[in-house]
Amino acid sequence: MRELLRKNIASLNPYSCARNDFTGEAQVYLDANENWQDFVAIHDANRYPDPLAVTLRKKIEEVMGLPFKHTILGNGSDELIDNLFRCFCEPGKDSALLMPPTYGAYRVFADINDVKVENVPLTTSFQIDFPSLESYLAKEKEQRSNGRLKLLFVCSPNNPTGNAFPLDQIERVCQLFDGITVVDEAYYDFSEKGSATTLLEKYPNLVVLRTLSKCWALASARVGIAIASEELVAVLGSMKYPYNLGTPSQALAYKAIGRSDEVQAGLDLIRDERERMKGLLENIACVTEIFPTDANFFLIRVTDAVGIYHYLAKDGIIVRNRSKELNCENCLRITIGNKTENDTLLAALSAYKEL
Ligand code: PMP
Repeated sequence: MRELLRKNIASLNPYSCARNDFTGEAQVYLDANENWQDFVAIHDANRYPDPLAVTLRKKIEEVMGLPFKHTILGNGSDELIDNLFRCFCEPGKDSALLMPPTYGAYRVFADINDVKVENVPLTTSFQIDFPSLESYLAKEKEQRSNGRLKLLFVCSPNNPTGNAFPLDQIERVCQLFDGITVVDEAYYDFSEKGSATTLLEKYPNLVVLRTLSKCWALASARVGIAIASEELVAVLGSMKYPYNLGTPSQALAYKAIGRSDEVQAGLDLIRDERERMKGLLENIACVTEIFPTDANFFLIRVTDAVGIYHYLAKDGIIVRNRSKELNCENCLRITIGNKTENDTLLAALSAYKEL
């Protein structure tokens, strides 16, 4: 892993904040230039947060089974994605591989970091195109000179298509690629397919990303989790903003994870609605294709995505038009809401008449 790092990151002398220097319990804290007065009196608002989020990460280990030594938290998984680019890719030299259609932020963070994007598209049924991937990776390896392919993103379940890739396919990607494979499992909890975390011991260059924004219903708190080798976790820890996750966010996350029974029941509700909606969508005239989903949303093909998007919006129903994504012509992405919301959407779609 070390030889894949950007040179400046490999030789970085990390910032050491007050809360890194002293981690025990003390009576008087005069080390961080904080204000001793707390005007809001909630979540120790006048004090800096724990930069290592120790209490929360222990809870994550206990409830989610993600080992403490192998986790690092980000301000949403978006921060972790950006940090992976900054850790590994030399701007203007190195590249990252995406398999579109996929989560749009990978490309944006690549662009921000001046990292070239290579695309090996998914097949038209949104599966990994292994013949193309193998030949691309073999060719890239042969032609390396100044820069090289450093990161490969697999989003599983994939956004916006909804499907998860079987674990043996994810493992195949890890075997084929000699850089850092990032498996984004933001929607993992909704899926029945296995987690790539089970591959971490075998593949030290693998990073798995999770988030509390979806199944854990905590999008506002901005808590993402990277699971990786201790060595990689240490590197990510050395270059992150020291206080990247505020105390209120850590406290909210601790609370949500402590309510895993309720979260599990909520997950069952979403899965039941997913099943019910699938059956009902199949009978709606303007819906021409429903793609298999392992997530909390559907990608559907409709007769006229732009027209239907505006028709729904006029009724106050907002969905995502994904028509411009590769192989997603006339596709809308629909989040599974509560029963009333879903019924409102289904009724509007049923009533839609072509002009
Ligand atoms: N990965 C995927 C696939 C996503 O869809 C999203 C959010 N839409 C994220 C990562 C980012 O999630 P967050 O920053 O809220 O953790």
